[in-house]
Amino acid sequence: MASLHGTVTAVELIARRMRRIRITATELRGQSWKPGQQVRVHAAAAAEPGHRGPRRTYSVWSYQDDTIELCVFDHGEAGPGSAWSRRIGVGQPVTFGRPEGKFVLRQGPYHLFAGEETASVAFGAMLRALPADVPAYGVVEVDTPEDRVPLPDSITWRFREGAPAASSRTLVDAVAKLTLPDEPGIAYLAGEARTIQMVRRHLVGDRNWPRGNVITKPFWSPGKTGMD
Ligand SMILES: Cc1cc2nc3c(=O)[nH]c(=O)nc-3n(C[C@H](O)[C@H](O)[C@H](O)COP(=O)(O)OP(=O)(O)OC[C@H]3O[C@@H](n4cnc5c(N)ncnc54)[C@H](O)[C@@H]3O)c2cc1C
Repeated sequence: MASLHGTVTAVELIARRMRRIRITATELRGQSWKPGQQVRVHAAAAAEPGHRGPRRTYSVWSYQDDTIELCVFDHGEAGPGSAWSRRIGVGQPVTFGRPEGKFVLRQGPYHLFAGEETASVAFGAMLRALPADVPAYGVVEVDTPEDRVPLPDSITWRFREGAPAASSRTLVDAVAKLTLPDEPGIAYLAGEARTIQMVRRHLVGDRNWPRGNVITKPFWSPGKTGMD
């Protein structure tokens, strides 16, 4: 990974457990980025020469000129990524990779988004990039209303109220309740690995969508670390 070097220029809690971290880096000027793409951040607690340390992947919430914003969900378990987001402050250096990834918008008659807190970051960037005349639908499941990040009104919110985000039947049920056009659109499913497989099975099995119309990206799973 060719590394870029930036400085944190703002940190703001934009939802109960979501920190938006603004990073400015001259090297970001002229890089290519598509909404939905992510960067890999060096999340080591202390910079040791020659030691790469743990890296964690975060979707880019916004990208302008020499500045990107990432939004990191504080999931409450021990992990270098969430610890990094709590620790990092304005003026501190950040090392990260160039924007990458295939979880990006495709051509389709309409777009469907489903996931939880972690997925809402990529969804925000993708939804903002959609032309106004292209319909969008979606469900984002978060723990409480205070966990919502700013997303367009096309997104329906569902609240877990303490239930686990993993293997979430309630997210599948909420997607099943959506009134969608008769023809398949393009679906973007991200977040907890087993939940998105369940939503995928619903779209392909119950709604008869072609597999190729369902784009999935597992972001995390209980007991696994640093999925990419
Ligand atoms: C392409 C991609 C894009 C991503 N974009 C974002 C993003 O924009 N924002 C974001 O916050 N994360 C995002 N993630 C997830 C992120 O990379 C980390 O996995 C996450 O921050 C956890 O890292 P950690 O080091 O804190 O915990 P880890 O060491 O990776 O995991 C420790 C344990 O914590 C638990 N855990 C991890 N995540 C959660 C969770 N969300 N809820 C409940 N328990 C959890 C699991 O049991 C896990 O075994 C993305 C992942 C990928 C692959």
